Amino acid sequence: MKSFLEKIRASFSALGQRFKRQPKVQADAPALSEPSAKPKADRFAIVSWVVTIFIVVALLGSTLYYKSTLPPKIVTVAQPTNSPDTTSAGQSPQAGESVASVDGGVLPSIVRKLQLITKIPERPRYNSIVYRVSRGDAMLRIADEFKLKSESILYVNTQLEDNPHNLKPGMELTIPPVDGLYYEWKDGDTFESVAEKFDAAADDIINFPGNDIDLTDPTVKPGTLVMIPGGSRDLRAWEQDLQTAGRGANTGTGGANATNSCGGGPVASGFGWPANSHAISGNGYGPGHLGIDIQANEGEPVYAAGSGIVTMAQGGWNYGYGNVVQIDHGNGYVTVYAHLSSINVGQCTPVGQGTVIGAAGNTGNSFGAHLHFEVRIGGSNINPYDIVQ
Ligand SMILES: [Zn+2]
Repeated sequence: MKSFLEKIRASFSALGQRFKRQPKVQADAPALSEPSAKPKADRFAIVSWVVTIFIVVALLGSTLYYKSTLPPKIVTVAQPTNSPDTTSAGQSPQAGESVASVDGGVLPSIVRKLQLITKIPERPRYNSIVYRVSRGDAMLRIADEFKLKSESILYVNTQLEDNPHNLKPGMELTIPPVDGLYYEWKDGDTFESVAEKFDAAADDIINFPGNDIDLTDPTVKPGTLVMIPGGSRDLRAWEQDLQTAGRGANTGTGGANATNSCGGGPVASGFGWPANSHAISGNGYGPGHLGIDIQANEGEPVYAAGSGIVTMAQGGWNYGYGNVVQIDHGNGYVTVYAHLSSINVGQCTPVGQGTVIGAAGNTGNSFGAHLHFEVRIGGSNINPYDIVQ
C-alpha cells in the first residue's frame, strides 16, 4: 500500500516537474522569473497530495460500500433433534454457541469465521449404518457414541450372540437408527401382533420414516425388514451355561447346572474388591453384560471378594469366560472371575476374603487383559457395586 501511494505521489511530482520546467525554459529574463517558479512547484506538490488522498479515500470508501451491500451470510443449521443420530461429534458446544450468535445479530464476517469450526448436525437418521469395531472398543462406549442402549446393538447384531465379549477389532456392527430392533415381517403379522411381541407400540412402527410405510394403506410385504422403534427381546443369558458345582445340599446355590456338591464351606460376612485397581476398563454392568470389567494387567493378582468355597475352577473357552473361577459364599451369594491367565485354586477349595485365587489375563472372549467380575444372588446377576465399593 505504501509503495502504491509513493508511486502515485511520484507520478504527480513528475507531472509537476514537467510544468515546472516550462517557466525555466522561458526564463530568459533573469531574476524576475525565479521567484514565480517556486510557488508553482509547491502548488503541484499540494495538488498531487490532495489527489492522492482523494484516490485513497475513494478506494477505501468503495471497498466499505461494497462490503456493506453484500447480502448477509445466513448460516442454515438443521434443527437439533433428540433422535440418536446427531451423533458423530456434530453437537459440540461450539455448534450451539455459533447458532445463538447468528440470532444475536453478530457481524456477518464474524459469523463466517465461526462457521468454519461449526459442524452442522446430520439430519435424523432413519437407516442403520455400519460401524467397524476398533481395538479397545467396548459395548457401552460404542452405544454411548451413537446415543443408543447397548441392548439395541446386541439385538440387531446376531453375530454377537447377545454377548458383548464377542466384540472383536475389525468386526462390522450394524448400528440401528434408534433404540429397538429389526424384525423380518412374516405372513399373517399385524402391526399390533408384532408390537406386542417386542413390547413396542404399533403406531411407532407405522410412523417410523425409515420403514416407508404408506400411511393411507399401512401394510408390509412378508420378508421386509422392519424397524421396531423401542422394541426389545430377551437377551440370551449365556452366563447360565457354565457348569458349576453345588456348594452343599443344605445351602445349594449351584443353580440348575450344578454337577456335584462340595459339601459346605466358609460363609462370607462381607465383600471386598477383587483386584488392585478399582477402575472399570471397558464394559460396565448392564443388559447383555451382567458383570463389570475391572482394569487389571496380565498376571496381576485376583482376590476372592469374600470367604466361601470354590465351586468352579476351570480352564478353557467356557462360553467366552476363558479360565474362570466361581466362588459360592453361602446365603445365595456367588462371585465369578473370568479371563484369568492362571488359576491358583481347585474346585471345592475353601477361600477367605482376599485369598489370591489366580492372576488376571486375557483368555476366552477378551481382547486386552482385564478381570470380568460378576456377582449373583439366588442365581440372578446383580451389579457388583451393590456389594463391593
Ligand atoms: Zn466383561
